[in-house]
Amino acid sequence: MILPRDESETVECVGQEELADTRGRVRLSRAFRFEAAHRLPNVPAGHKCGRLHGHSFRVELVCEGEVDPHLGWLVDFAEIKQAFDPLLMSLDHHYLNEIEGLDNPTAENIARWIWDRLKQGLPTLAQVNVAETCSSRCEYRG
Ligand SMILES: [Zn+2]
Repeated sequence: MILPRDESETVECVGQEELADTRGRVRLSRAFRFEAAHRLPNVPAGHKCGRLHGHSFRVELVCEGEVDPHLGWLVDFAEIKQAFDPLLMSLDHHYLNEIEGLDNPTAENIARWIWDRLKQGLPTLAQVNVAETCSSRCEYRG
């Protein structure tokens, strides 16, 4: 069952009858957008992605774990935003190739770059999704 709180937040509850041993376990996500330019330096000559271009990237941060019985949540959505904000600022309206660790900024490498910088401060992080367009996205699980 999906219970959207707003457009950028989803909570998926795992039913008791579906998975008895994971009762109370949830996956939730918060979505973010950023605009950025990039080019992919390692594609074959003439490939369109080798030219400088931009995307409205969409990032979904998925957290998974047990719901705190008192608070009634896994993690505060605001905590996810707070953890990601510094990274978002370093990505938004930047030329990604100039960012340390993103010299080949494919969706795959961006997802891993985010994971590597976020996991320690957001231990419930279970998956990072990076979409370049509404039809093309990468899922990274660490
Ligand atoms: Zn691109």
